[in-house]
Amino acid sequence: MKVLLASPRSFCAGVERAIEIVEQAILTRQPPIYVRKQIVHNKHVVAALEDRGVVFVDELAEIPDGATVVFSAHGVSPAVRAEADRRGLDVIDATCPLVTKVHAEARRFAARGDTVILVGHAGHEEVEGTMGEAPDQTVLVETTADIEDLPVPDPDNVSYLLQTTLAVDEAAEVVAGLQDRFPALRGPATDDICYATTNRQDALRAIADEADLVLVVGSANSSNSVRLVELAHRHGTPSYLIDDVGGIRPEWLADVDVVGVTAGASAPPGLVDEVVAALAPATVEERITARETIHFTLPPAARRP
Ligand code: SF4
Repeated sequence: MKVLLASPRSFCAGVERAIEIVEQAILTRQPPIYVRKQIVHNKHVVAALEDRGVVFVDELAEIPDGATVVFSAHGVSPAVRAEADRRGLDVIDATCPLVTKVHAEARRFAARGDTVILVGHAGHEEVEGTMGEAPDQTVLVETTADIEDLPVPDPDNVSYLLQTTLAVDEAAEVVAGLQDRFPALRGPATDDICYATTNRQDALRAIADEADLVLVVGSANSSNSVRLVELAHRHGTPSYLIDDVGGIRPEWLADVDVVGVTAGASAPPGLVDEVVAALAPATVEERITARETIHFTLPPAARRP
């Protein structure tokens, strides 16, 4: 068997920064450190931080007044920030700067009076946070099927935004559909789908046709990981999402000569190494389609001694 390793894969700069922020909080604040929602969508990352005493909660109401809380990489709505402020919480914001950029666009587009169409997945924390910037002016579109009945009061004043972890090809289709219905549609100056999502999809595209099977390391609630599995399927290649090496089923490997391996942006690189070791391939070939050098600095609150 041969393993084709897609590169880039695994941790992105936003995930590394978010984890580092929690680690800094553990070192510099009184325990317990609370994190609202999963810091990143990966069960191994969350379990490792829980082992170090971090408490993950769904809502701020579960946190005592004055405690330290970290906001996850997916961002929060202004309503959550205001509640934290009222409660006197010591907030450290681990929102990825590329999500913060989308929030800023949402505010700007809403301020000029536009209806903001957010293309994304209902219920995802990033979508909830972004919609919260201008809840009365924002509508969600998941697929092209949603476009026809979209409630837009003034078709001449309409903008779109994208969730950062969408499939690039599917999002382009939705945007084309929006442009058909709203010729005056305006969008962000630079792509909302982030560099890490784009790079991991490009890297997978470079191996998907050659592989008999694609294994994507990532958790089920990781949007960009799920998009990688779907992308492999669109190339006609069977693909499975696995949290770790324990998720591999022997029957998947019957008659398979080439296994493509990649990982979502929230999956630790060590898990990929374990998967490759368990496959025990005769050869491992890494296909590098981009080199990532992006690094985000920590927010001042995380640097405080
Ligand atoms: S996937 Fe993109 S938007 Fe999400 S944390 Fe990573 S760099 Fe930021």
